[in-house]
Formats: sequence, structure tokens, C-alpha cells
Amino acid sequence: VKESGKNDYQFFNYNLDEKLSRKVELEKGLRKALANNEFTLRYQPQINIVTGKIIGVEALLRWKHPQLGNISPGEFIPIAEETGLIKSIGEWVLKTACKQNKAWQNSGLPPICMAVNVSKQQFHSEDFVDMVTQVLESTQLNPKYLELEITENSMYKIEHLIPTLNQLKDIGIKIAIDDFGTGYSSLSILNRLPIDNLKIDQNFIHNIVNNSNKAALTKTIINMGIDLNFNVTAEGVETYEQKLFLTENQCNIGQGYLFAHPLLPEKIKNILNKSNLS
Ligand code: C2E
Ligand code: CA
Ligand code: CA
Ligand code: CA
Repeated sequence: VKESGKNDYQFFNYNLDEKLSRKVELEKGLRKALANNEFTLRYQPQINIVTGKIIGVEALLRWKHPQLGNISPGEFIPIAEETGLIKSIGEWVLKTACKQNKAWQNSGLPPICMAVNVSKQQFHSEDFVDMVTQVLESTQLNPKYLELEITENSMYKIEHLIPTLNQLKDIGIKIAIDDFGTGYSSLSILNRLPIDNLKIDQNFIHNIVNNSNKAALTKTIINMGIDLNFNVTAEGVETYEQKLFLTENQCNIGQGYLFAHPLLPEKIKNILNKSNLS
């Protein structure tokens, strides 16, 4: 295997043999990662971009392999999904995130919503709702402060998921559609899903200022979301111009480097304690 860079994010430059052996190596590492405490979570603020107030955070998983260093979730999540390891990893993420949110609330900070990414495999597993219920019970987090993010791509054959989504809604948990605009969902299906939040994919936001097609599509998505009574969140907001476009078009929730990177829990605590992020 090629000498790895600091972040190991250049895996796509490896040749086929190297890619395969790296994948085998990562798979081996993933099997031990939970037991060895190699996972951590970062939390990225979600902002009301009109007031600058933080309204929630998204939990983002980080893995430090003992030899290979930091591996991006874009590389290891697909391996975790293929191997089925995502089930136990996902449970750890949910438990850790809910526990963290409850700890912030217990220390007297204003309550915020915790968004957690959930893979398709997790949603389709039979005991998923039971697992979530148990985590909420053991952490004592009020379900209204938990939002589960499901990517639009994993909504393929979404009909099968409607009962699960409804059960989660009945518990009081919020549901977000992640990476919206990249998948297959038809508008008629969106209307039938118990959704609270539509997250517009970064790819749209990155191009709204210089690509009039993307701008038009983004406006359409925002208006549709508003019409259907969803919250609409813009992901990957990096510039002031993008923020301006969003506020001008009534998209009032944003997430991105312009406001904050994914942060350590102590940093979130500081933000909740005092300032806003406008
Ligand atoms: P995502 O759910 O779409 O998360 C947003 C990604 O965009 C994160 O990458 C975040 O760090 C990055 N990001 C945030 N703001 C900006 C910005 O302004 N500009 C740019 N260029 N990027 C921004 P990250 O943390 O590398 O995660 C990548 C993907 O891995 C996530 O995409 C999600 O699909 C997956 N993932 C991360 N954590 C988990 C997890 O706990 N469970 C599951 N199933 N998937 C996860
Ligand atoms: Ca997400
Ligand atoms: Ca996303
Ligand atoms: Ca994504």
C-alpha cells in the first residue's frame, strides 16, 4: 500500500490492487474499531440564517485507524454498509449523539435538535424502531430533540419504509430527507411521507450563484418544501453570496463552513452558551 497522506483521502489515486488491499485492510480495521474506541463524533451546527441562532447540530462520524490514520466517512461508511457492520456502528452513533444532546440539556443549555444519519440498511432492519426506542429510553432524551436523516437515494422503493417512518413519527422523532435533489423521489411520494425537513444537497448550493439552472432548481425545491410544510435546510453553505440567495428565496436554515465546521462537543457547548453564528 502506498505511503498514506495525512488524511488518507486520496484513495481514488490508488491502482486496483492497492485499492483492494486497502479495502481489505479497512474492513479488518472496522471490525475492531468499536471495541477499540476508535470512533468519535463531530457536531456541525444548523443555523437559522436570518437570526444566526443555532437550532440543531448534525452528528458526523470520525474514524481514526491505528495505522492508516483518519479515514473519511465517504470511504468507510460504504464498507460498513456492505459488511453489515453499519448496524452496530450506527447504534453506537445514535446512542452517543443522544447521550451528548441530553448532557448539554442537563447542564442547562438551551435545547437543540440532534440530527443523526441513518443508512438504508439500518432503516430496513426489523428491530430498528425498537433499537431507537431503547436508546431514547436509556438516554432519557425527549424524542422531539432527535431527527433522523435518510438520504434521498436510499428512498428507492420507499413504500416499504412508510410504516417504519410513521412509527418513528408516532414516537415524536423528526425525519429529514438528506441530499435532496440527487435521487429518484417523485413529488407525489414526498407528499405521502411523514417528513419534517428537506435538506438540499450541497451540489445545488455550491452552484447557485454561477449556474442559473441550479439556481432555478433550488428555488423550485425551496418553494415545494414550503408548500408541503417542511423545513428546508441548505447544506454546504460556504459563501455570503450563497447565504444571501437563500434568505432572498425564503430558505431560512443553513449548514456549512460559512457558519461552522463539524466541531468537538466542547465547542458546541461554548456556542450554545453565548453567541450566535450569523
Ligand atoms: P452528509 O450527511 O451529506 O454530511 C455532510 C457532509 O458535508 C459532511 O462530510 C460535512 O463535513 C460536509 N460539509 C459540511 N459543510 C460543508 C461545506 O460548507 N462545504 C463542504 N464542501 N462540505 C461540507 P463528512 O463528515 O465527510 O461526511 C460525509 C458523509 O458520510 C455524510 O454526508 C454522510 O452521508 C456520511 N456519514 C457521516 N457520518 C455518518 C454516520 O454516523 N452514519 C451514516 N450512516 N453516514 C454517515
Ligand atoms: Ca446528513
Ligand atoms: Ca447531505
Ligand atoms: Ca452527502
